[in-house]
Amino acid sequence: MGYHTLHYCNILSMPTIKETSNETKLREDLKQVCNLAYNKGLISGTEGNFSARLSEDLILVTPRNSHKGSIEISDFVTVDLNGTTISNGKKEPTSELALHLEAYKKRPDVTSVVHAHPPTVVSFSVAGLDFNQPAIPEIIVLLGEVPTVPYCEPGTHKLGELVGAYFEKHDAVILDHHGVVTLGKSIYNAYYKLESLEHAAKIMHSAYSLGEIKNLEESSIDELINQRHKTYGKKVELREGKKLFRSVNSTFKLKNVFKKLTDNNSPVFQRVISLVNELMLTAVQRTTYCQKLSITEQEELSKELTGSFLGMILGRFISKKGV
Ligand SMILES: [Zn+2]
Repeated sequence: MGYHTLHYCNILSMPTIKETSNETKLREDLKQVCNLAYNKGLISGTEGNFSARLSEDLILVTPRNSHKGSIEISDFVTVDLNGTTISNGKKEPTSELALHLEAYKKRPDVTSVVHAHPPTVVSFSVAGLDFNQPAIPEIIVLLGEVPTVPYCEPGTHKLGELVGAYFEKHDAVILDHHGVVTLGKSIYNAYYKLESLEHAAKIMHSAYSLGEIKNLEESSIDELINQRHKTYGKKVELREGKKLFRSVNSTFKLKNVFKKLTDNNSPVFQRVISLVNELMLTAVQRTTYCQKLSITEQEELSKELTGSFLGMILGRFISKKGV
Protein backbone atom coordinates (compact mmCIF):
# COMPACT_ATOMS: atom_id res chain seq x y z
CA MET A 1 0.00 0.00 0.00
CA GLY A 2 1.92 3.04 -1.17
CA TYR A 3 -0.11 5.52 0.79
CA HIS A 4 2.45 7.91 1.90
CA THR A 5 5.72 9.67 1.14
CA LEU A 6 8.11 10.72 3.90
CA HIS A 7 10.61 13.49 3.17
CA TYR A 8 13.30 14.08 5.80
CA CYS A 9 14.37 17.65 6.38
CA ASN A 10 18.14 17.65 6.98
CA ILE A 11 18.30 20.95 8.86
CA LEU A 12 15.89 20.05 11.64
CA SER A 13 16.44 16.29 11.45
CA MET A 14 12.69 15.97 11.75
CA PRO A 15 10.57 14.08 9.29
CA THR A 16 8.08 16.15 7.37
CA ILE A 17 5.21 14.69 5.49
CA LYS A 18 4.15 15.35 1.97
CA GLU A 19 0.59 14.27 1.60
CA THR A 20 -0.25 12.08 -1.32
CA SER A 21 -3.68 11.81 -2.84
CA ASN A 22 -4.04 8.48 -1.00
CA GLU A 23 -3.42 10.16 2.33
CA THR A 24 -5.93 12.87 1.52
CA LYS A 25 -8.47 10.18 0.65
CA LEU A 26 -7.76 8.36 3.94
CA ARG A 27 -8.21 11.59 5.90
CA GLU A 28 -11.50 12.24 4.12
CA ASP A 29 -12.71 8.70 4.82
CA LEU A 30 -11.70 8.95 8.49
CA LYS A 31 -13.57 12.25 8.81
CA GLN A 32 -16.58 10.63 7.16
CA VAL A 33 -16.75 7.72 9.65
CA CYS A 34 -16.13 10.07 12.60
CA ASN A 35 -19.14 12.13 11.45
CA LEU A 36 -21.23 9.00 10.85
CA ALA A 37 -20.49 7.59 14.32
CA TYR A 38 -21.31 10.91 15.98
CA ASN A 39 -24.49 11.49 13.97
CA LYS A 40 -25.67 7.95 14.65
CA GLY A 41 -25.20 8.41 18.41
CA LEU A 42 -22.45 5.78 18.73
CA ILE A 43 -20.30 8.38 20.52
CA SER A 44 -21.01 11.74 22.12
CA GLY A 45 -18.96 14.78 23.14
CA THR A 46 -15.30 14.03 22.54
CA GLU A 47 -15.67 10.26 22.93
CA GLY A 48 -14.32 7.62 20.58
CA ASN A 49 -11.20 7.37 18.48
CA PHE A 50 -10.56 6.26 14.93
CA SER A 51 -7.43 5.36 12.99
CA ALA A 52 -6.17 4.10 9.65
CA ARG A 53 -2.89 2.64 8.44
CA LEU A 54 -0.94 5.00 6.21
CA SER A 55 1.87 2.54 5.56
CA GLU A 56 3.38 -0.52 7.22
CA ASP A 57 4.49 1.49 10.25
CA LEU A 58 2.63 4.80 10.11
CA ILE A 59 -0.87 5.42 11.42
CA LEU A 60 -3.32 8.31 11.07
CA VAL A 61 -5.32 8.77 14.26
CA THR A 62 -7.87 11.15 15.74
CA PRO A 63 -6.45 13.81 18.09
CA ARG A 64 -7.05 13.80 21.84
CA ASN A 65 -10.31 15.42 23.03
CA SER A 66 -11.63 16.03 19.56
CA HIS A 67 -15.31 16.32 18.69
CA LYS A 68 -15.92 13.77 15.93
CA GLY A 69 -18.99 15.57 14.64
CA SER A 70 -16.97 18.62 13.65
CA ILE A 71 -13.50 17.17 13.02
CA GLU A 72 -11.49 18.46 10.03
CA ILE A 73 -9.31 16.36 7.72
CA SER A 74 -6.23 18.35 8.81
CA ASP A 75 -6.87 17.37 12.49
CA PHE A 76 -5.70 13.75 12.20
CA VAL A 77 -2.30 13.03 13.77
CA THR A 78 0.37 10.81 12.21
CA VAL A 79 2.19 8.45 14.59
CA ASP A 80 4.55 5.52 14.13
CA LEU A 81 4.00 2.07 15.62
CA ASN A 82 5.97 3.06 18.74
CA GLY A 83 3.50 5.86 19.38
CA THR A 84 5.87 8.68 18.42
CA THR A 85 4.07 11.63 16.85
CA ILE A 86 5.40 12.29 13.35
CA SER A 87 3.10 15.04 12.12
CA ASN A 88 4.10 18.69 12.41
CA GLY A 89 0.87 19.92 13.94
CA LYS A 90 0.49 20.64 17.63
CA LYS A 91 -2.29 18.16 18.25
CA GLU A 92 -1.67 15.14 20.43
CA PRO A 93 -2.91 11.68 19.45
CA THR A 94 -5.88 10.05 21.21
CA SER A 95 -5.44 8.87 24.80
CA GLU A 96 -6.40 5.36 23.59
CA LEU A 97 -3.43 5.23 21.20
CA ALA A 98 -2.05 2.06 22.89
CA LEU A 99 -5.18 0.17 21.96
CA HIS A 100 -4.88 1.16 18.28
CA LEU A 101 -1.16 0.38 18.09
CA GLU A 102 -1.68 -3.07 19.60
CA ALA A 103 -4.20 -3.87 16.87
CA TYR A 104 -1.82 -2.84 14.07
CA LYS A 105 1.11 -4.71 15.61
CA LYS A 106 -0.87 -7.90 16.18
CA ARG A 107 -2.73 -7.86 12.88
CA PRO A 108 -0.80 -6.88 9.74
CA ASP A 109 -3.99 -7.47 7.75
CA VAL A 110 -5.84 -4.71 9.62
CA THR A 111 -5.86 -1.24 8.05
CA SER A 112 -8.33 0.49 10.34
CA VAL A 113 -9.39 0.53 14.01
CA VAL A 114 -12.55 2.03 15.46
CA HIS A 115 -13.27 2.57 19.15
CA ALA A 116 -16.68 3.90 20.21
CA HIS A 117 -19.22 3.77 23.03
CA PRO A 118 -22.39 2.41 21.37
CA PRO A 119 -25.09 2.91 24.04
CA THR A 120 -27.03 -0.36 23.72
CA VAL A 121 -23.93 -2.58 23.65
CA VAL A 122 -22.51 -0.70 26.65
CA SER A 123 -25.86 -0.93 28.49
CA PHE A 124 -25.74 -4.74 28.26
CA SER A 125 -22.22 -4.68 29.65
CA VAL A 126 -23.15 -2.32 32.51
CA ALA A 127 -26.11 -4.59 33.35
CA GLY A 128 -23.75 -7.58 33.43
CA LEU A 129 -25.50 -9.24 30.47
CA ASP A 130 -24.00 -10.52 27.25
CA PHE A 131 -26.30 -10.02 24.28
CA ASN A 132 -24.12 -12.03 21.91
CA GLN A 133 -26.23 -15.10 21.30
CA PRO A 134 -26.73 -17.11 18.11
CA ALA A 135 -30.01 -15.43 17.30
CA ILE A 136 -29.07 -13.02 14.50
CA PRO A 137 -27.60 -14.70 11.38
CA GLU A 138 -25.73 -11.63 10.10
CA ILE A 139 -23.77 -11.25 13.31
CA ILE A 140 -22.67 -14.90 13.34
CA VAL A 141 -21.39 -14.59 9.77
CA LEU A 142 -19.91 -11.09 10.08
CA LEU A 143 -18.37 -11.18 13.56
CA GLY A 144 -18.56 -14.72 14.94
CA GLU A 145 -17.79 -14.63 18.63
CA VAL A 146 -17.51 -11.14 20.15
CA PRO A 147 -15.79 -11.54 23.52
CA THR A 148 -16.02 -9.12 26.43
CA VAL A 149 -12.65 -7.92 27.73
CA PRO A 150 -12.61 -7.58 31.56
CA TYR A 151 -12.84 -4.01 32.86
CA CYS A 152 -9.66 -1.93 32.77
CA GLU A 153 -9.24 1.81 33.20
CA PRO A 154 -9.70 3.63 29.85
CA GLY A 155 -6.74 5.38 28.25
CA THR A 156 -4.08 3.17 29.86
CA HIS A 157 -1.31 1.03 28.36
CA LYS A 158 -2.68 -1.84 30.41
CA LEU A 159 -5.99 -1.64 28.52
CA GLY A 160 -4.08 -1.71 25.21
CA GLU A 161 -2.17 -4.83 26.24
CA LEU A 162 -5.26 -6.54 27.62
CA VAL A 163 -7.33 -5.91 24.50
CA GLY A 164 -4.39 -6.70 22.22
CA ALA A 165 -4.45 -10.33 23.33
CA TYR A 166 -7.97 -10.66 21.89
CA PHE A 167 -7.13 -9.13 18.52
CA GLU A 168 -5.30 -12.23 17.35
CA LYS A 169 -8.62 -14.08 17.01
CA HIS A 170 -11.31 -11.42 16.93
CA ASP A 171 -12.27 -8.47 14.73
CA ALA A 172 -14.66 -7.05 17.33
CA VAL A 173 -14.45 -6.94 21.12
CA ILE A 174 -16.57 -5.40 23.85
CA LEU A 175 -14.75 -3.54 26.64
CA ASP A 176 -16.56 -4.18 29.91
CA HIS A 177 -18.41 -1.09 31.22
CA HIS A 178 -16.83 0.97 28.46
CA GLY A 179 -17.28 0.40 24.72
CA VAL A 180 -16.38 -1.50 21.59
CA VAL A 181 -13.31 -1.91 19.38
CA THR A 182 -13.65 -3.11 15.80
CA LEU A 183 -10.92 -3.89 13.27
CA GLY A 184 -11.25 -3.82 9.50
CA LYS A 185 -9.58 -4.13 6.16
CA SER A 186 -10.75 -0.59 5.41
CA ILE A 187 -12.07 2.34 7.44
CA TYR A 188 -15.62 1.62 6.36
CA ASN A 189 -15.24 -2.11 7.04
CA ALA A 190 -14.23 -1.42 10.65
CA TYR A 191 -17.02 1.15 11.05
CA TYR A 192 -19.73 -1.11 9.60
CA LYS A 193 -18.84 -3.75 12.21
CA LEU A 194 -19.48 -1.18 14.93
CA GLU A 195 -22.85 -0.23 13.43
CA SER A 196 -23.86 -3.89 13.05
CA LEU A 197 -22.94 -4.66 16.64
CA GLU A 198 -25.04 -1.81 18.01
CA HIS A 199 -27.93 -2.75 15.72
CA ALA A 200 -27.79 -6.36 16.96
CA ALA A 201 -27.73 -5.15 20.57
CA LYS A 202 -30.83 -3.03 19.92
CA ILE A 203 -32.66 -6.05 18.48
CA MET A 204 -31.63 -8.22 21.43
CA HIS A 205 -32.69 -5.51 23.86
CA SER A 206 -36.16 -5.32 22.27
CA ALA A 207 -36.45 -9.12 22.16
CA TYR A 208 -35.33 -9.36 25.78
CA SER A 209 -38.03 -6.90 26.85
CA LEU A 210 -40.66 -8.91 24.94
CA GLY A 211 -39.74 -12.24 26.54
CA GLU A 212 -37.19 -15.02 26.40
CA ILE A 213 -34.65 -15.13 23.57
CA LYS A 214 -35.26 -17.91 21.03
CA ASN A 215 -31.96 -18.87 19.44
CA LEU A 216 -31.45 -20.30 15.97
CA GLU A 217 -31.48 -24.09 15.54
CA GLU A 218 -28.13 -25.84 15.97
CA SER A 219 -28.11 -26.92 12.29
CA SER A 220 -28.67 -23.32 11.17
CA ILE A 221 -25.85 -22.09 13.42
CA ASP A 222 -23.54 -24.73 11.89
CA GLU A 223 -24.48 -23.56 8.41
CA LEU A 224 -23.80 -19.92 9.30
CA ILE A 225 -20.48 -20.83 10.89
CA ASN A 226 -19.50 -22.64 7.67
CA GLN A 227 -20.55 -19.59 5.70
CA ARG A 228 -18.31 -17.43 7.91
CA HIS A 229 -15.47 -19.89 7.39
CA LYS A 230 -15.87 -19.77 3.59
CA THR A 231 -16.26 -15.97 3.45
CA TYR A 232 -13.59 -14.89 5.93
CA GLY A 233 -11.42 -17.98 6.34
CA LYS A 234 -11.84 -17.93 10.12
CA LYS A 235 -11.20 -21.32 11.61
CA VAL A 236 -10.14 -21.48 15.23
CA GLU A 237 -12.64 -19.19 16.90
CA LEU A 238 -15.71 -20.78 15.38
CA ARG A 239 -15.90 -23.98 17.38
CA GLU A 240 -14.88 -22.10 20.49
CA GLY A 241 -17.47 -19.50 19.63
CA LYS A 242 -20.21 -22.07 19.42
CA LYS A 243 -19.38 -23.37 22.87
CA LEU A 244 -19.33 -19.84 24.20
CA PHE A 245 -22.70 -19.10 22.59
CA ARG A 246 -24.21 -21.96 24.58
CA SER A 247 -22.78 -20.87 27.92
CA VAL A 248 -23.73 -17.25 27.30
CA ASN A 249 -27.24 -18.30 26.43
CA SER A 250 -27.71 -20.24 29.66
CA THR A 251 -26.23 -17.38 31.71
CA PHE A 252 -28.55 -14.97 29.96
CA LYS A 253 -31.59 -17.15 30.66
CA LEU A 254 -30.66 -17.57 34.32
CA LYS A 255 -30.19 -13.87 34.83
CA ASN A 256 -33.42 -13.12 33.00
CA VAL A 257 -35.35 -15.57 35.15
CA PHE A 258 -33.75 -14.38 38.37
CA LYS A 259 -34.55 -10.80 37.41
CA LYS A 260 -38.21 -11.76 37.09
CA LEU A 261 -38.03 -13.44 40.47
CA THR A 262 -36.39 -10.54 42.27
CA ASP A 263 -38.61 -8.00 40.54
CA ASN A 264 -41.55 -9.75 42.15
CA ASN A 265 -41.87 -8.24 45.60
CA SER A 266 -43.86 -11.15 46.93
CA PRO A 267 -42.85 -11.82 50.58
CA VAL A 268 -42.95 -15.58 49.87
CA PHE A 269 -40.32 -15.20 47.15
CA GLN A 270 -38.22 -12.99 49.39
CA ARG A 271 -38.41 -15.63 52.15
CA VAL A 272 -37.39 -18.38 49.69
CA ILE A 273 -34.42 -16.28 48.56
CA SER A 274 -33.34 -15.65 52.12
CA LEU A 275 -33.61 -19.36 53.09
CA VAL A 276 -31.67 -20.53 50.02
CA ASN A 277 -29.08 -17.85 50.66
CA GLU A 278 -28.61 -19.09 54.23
CA LEU A 279 -28.12 -22.64 52.94
CA MET A 280 -25.65 -21.47 50.31
CA LEU A 281 -23.67 -19.48 52.88
CA THR A 282 -23.42 -22.54 55.14
CA ALA A 283 -22.27 -24.65 52.18
CA VAL A 284 -19.71 -22.01 51.15
CA GLN A 285 -18.33 -21.73 54.69
CA ARG A 286 -17.88 -25.50 54.88
CA THR A 287 -15.95 -25.67 51.61
CA THR A 288 -12.21 -25.77 52.26
CA TYR A 289 -11.30 -23.42 49.40
CA CYS A 290 -13.94 -20.85 50.43
CA GLN A 291 -12.62 -20.74 54.00
CA LYS A 292 -9.72 -18.69 52.63
CA LEU A 293 -12.16 -16.00 51.49
CA SER A 294 -13.23 -13.04 53.63
CA ILE A 295 -16.74 -12.99 55.15
CA THR A 296 -17.84 -10.39 52.56
CA GLU A 297 -16.52 -12.55 49.70
CA GLN A 298 -18.26 -15.62 51.13
CA GLU A 299 -21.51 -13.67 51.36
CA GLU A 300 -21.17 -12.39 47.81
CA LEU A 301 -20.45 -15.90 46.52
CA SER A 302 -23.45 -17.33 48.32
CA LYS A 303 -25.66 -14.60 46.82
CA GLU A 304 -24.41 -15.49 43.33
CA LEU A 305 -25.02 -19.18 43.94
CA THR A 306 -28.51 -18.41 45.23
CA GLY A 307 -29.25 -16.45 42.06
CA SER A 308 -28.00 -19.24 39.78
CA PHE A 309 -29.79 -21.96 41.77
CA LEU A 310 -33.15 -20.22 41.94
CA GLY A 311 -32.85 -19.06 38.34
CA MET A 312 -32.26 -22.65 37.22
CA ILE A 313 -35.16 -24.07 39.28
CA LEU A 314 -37.53 -21.31 38.25
CA GLY A 315 -36.37 -21.53 34.62
CA ARG A 316 -37.30 -25.24 34.53
CA PHE A 317 -40.60 -24.50 36.18
CA ILE A 318 -41.39 -21.76 33.67
CA SER A 319 -40.46 -23.87 30.62
CA LYS A 320 -42.58 -26.82 31.89
CA LYS A 321 -45.56 -24.65 32.58
CA GLY A 322 -45.02 -22.77 29.32
CA VAL A 323 -45.36 -19.44 31.14
ZN1 LIG B 1 -13.51 4.72 25.24
